[in-house]
Amino acid sequence: MATRKRPSSKSKPLAEYKRKRDFTKTAEPEGKATRRRSARGLRFVIQKHAASHLHFDFRLELDGVMKSWAVPKGPSYDPSVRRLAMEVEDHPIEYNTFEGTIPKGEYGGGTVMLWDRGTYEPEGGGGADALRDGYERGDLKIVMHGKRMKGGWVLVRMRREGGRAQWLLIKHRDELADPDYDVVEEAMTSVASGRTMEEIASRKGRVWRSNRGT
Ligand code: MN
Repeated sequence: MATRKRPSSKSKPLAEYKRKRDFTKTAEPEGKATRRRSARGLRFVIQKHAASHLHFDFRLELDGVMKSWAVPKGPSYDPSVRRLAMEVEDHPIEYNTFEGTIPKGEYGGGTVMLWDRGTYEPEGGGGADALRDGYERGDLKIVMHGKRMKGGWVLVRMRREGGRAQWLLIKHRDELADPDYDVVEEAMTSVASGRTMEEIASRKGRVWRSNRGT
């Protein structure tokens, strides 16, 4: 079975992202793929998202977009735990600063928290080429430099069901691995604003304006 990106995603990056959203109703960024590179390295972001089912959106910058996975249970520091990571559509890099509420009834409706962010790199060096290769092979070994995500992690592709692949997110057995540390339970506030999900949902500290119903 072919494991490469479909050609359409190459010619029209973010087409699926845009098709799924009505930007007159959601405050999410419309976004565009970019060739600009951050001098600080490739970025990652994890957003906690209370949609119809709570999950963590795990996003890695690669080739001008954020490669994205939905991780229902979030990451685990226990190397014996494999967390399901469902591949979803690429997101724009501007999405990395999005925190707020997507209106009910819109795609992904619910509260979004910036749960972690930072930079990441391929475990064995080699820059974007090594990352692209790992992504396409379905064996992506990375080192993360976040506030909550630190050290080595791997994303391993299992199988495709329909159009999209299911992966596993696993902590590497390194000096930061810790079976007793439940990062999802410990880290309950935004890495950007310090707010809880409830505070974001009640729009404390920040107001998102939606065109809906006005
Ligand atoms: Mn999501």
